Amino acid sequence: MSLSIHVDVQSAQSEGDRPVRFWLDVILDESTLSGIYEIETVEDHWYERNAEYFKVLTDVGKRYILRFDPALDRWSLHSGFDGDELLQRPGVEMITVEASTIRAAEQQVAACERCRPDEADWLFASILNEVTGRSGDTEYAMCEPAKCPNCRDEISEKTLVQLQGGIEVEAPAE
Ligand SMILES: [Zn+2]
Repeated sequence: MSLSIHVDVQSAQSEGDRPVRFWLDVILDESTLSGIYEIETVEDHWYERNAEYFKVLTDVGKRYILRFDPALDRWSLHSGFDGDELLQRPGVEMITVEASTIRAAEQQVAACERCRPDEADWLFASILNEVTGRSGDTEYAMCEPAKCPNCRDEISEKTLVQLQGGIEVEAPAE
């Protein structure tokens, strides 16, 4: 059993890369950042079936096993030691989205699925992921609906939208 995580890695000349901190979901507001696990020591490091494992000790004395898959460039938290209690958490976290975040995400929207059904193929939640820097495992509770800049209809996190600025739009045929 494993859970996708984010890891900061530091390159040490002698030992190669080593994880220095990891987080499942960072709780971010204007002034504080929490939910980050600072790694004090890498106690063990081994390779197994195309993956790299690190047994780490955090600055609060908890032990976790981190797994790195180089083919996918993806880190996960592996079961064992104190990791088991983190793995018990539901994979999806509910996050309240402030108005300022909604406005920032709105600015990337050109139109919605109601006014341009053929072009709207991005979930508004994926723009929220980008604005907040969170993963796809996040469930958003928006404090107010966003508005489509084109038709002024309401946009929820589940609404499909068209992105502003031609990103991810197919190049016109020449
Ligand atoms: Zn619209």
